[in-house]
Amino acid sequence: MSPSQNLVAGVIGVQGDVSEHIDAISRLGVHRNISIDTLAIRQTGLIPKCDFLAIPGGESTTISRLIDDIDLSSEIISHAASGKPLLVTCAGLIVASSNANDPRVKTLNLLDVSINRNAFGRQIDSLETDLPVIGLTDPFPAVFIRAPAVETASNNVEILAEYQGKPVAIRQNNIIGTSFHPELTSDLRIHDLAFFGTTFPNSKT
Ligand code: GLN
Repeated sequence: MSPSQNLVAGVIGVQGDVSEHIDAISRLGVHRNISIDTLAIRQTGLIPKCDFLAIPGGESTTISRLIDDIDLSSEIISHAASGKPLLVTCAGLIVASSNANDPRVKTLNLLDVSINRNAFGRQIDSLETDLPVIGLTDPFPAVFIRAPAVETASNNVEILAEYQGKPVAIRQNNIIGTSFHPELTSDLRIHDLAFFGTTFPNSKT
């Protein structure tokens, strides 16, 4: 890619905190002083143009149904198979898993994990905690909202963070998944890690 060419990021835009991811990715472009065009994906044909892709938090049963209705699954799967970065957060993690333990979620089988959608129960409707994450020098301000956790993971999956003994951030090759919502904070390090494989000095705020 020539330096003048814009990078393109897609956020699956059918439901959930789509605009928050778009904002975070725009801020990341500013931090890195690079141009990133960001698209809310609600139709086929756009994902093949994307260098980066994110599936946001929201309601996994709804996101899964709409991805299926619009026929986005095969493009998301091709994006991941091509080795391009994919970030999946909260409901996005559930949708990207191999088993959501809920027949209403048609998983994309991108991550070799099974998920407990209500791992923390009502105890954690919403909370923020400073979470140590492998790859980040300082803890990340992790916002959990009705958060899922990884229940089982194959050896292909690297556990990047745990909360209350349960995996809440993982990496499998080019895919990073979190139970929490990096898009709801001003801290860009998880997006940075997912899309650029590293963190930029100023991406911690
Ligand atoms: N528990 C929600 C679900 O199952 C996910 C919550 C979230 O994305 N904040 O879809």
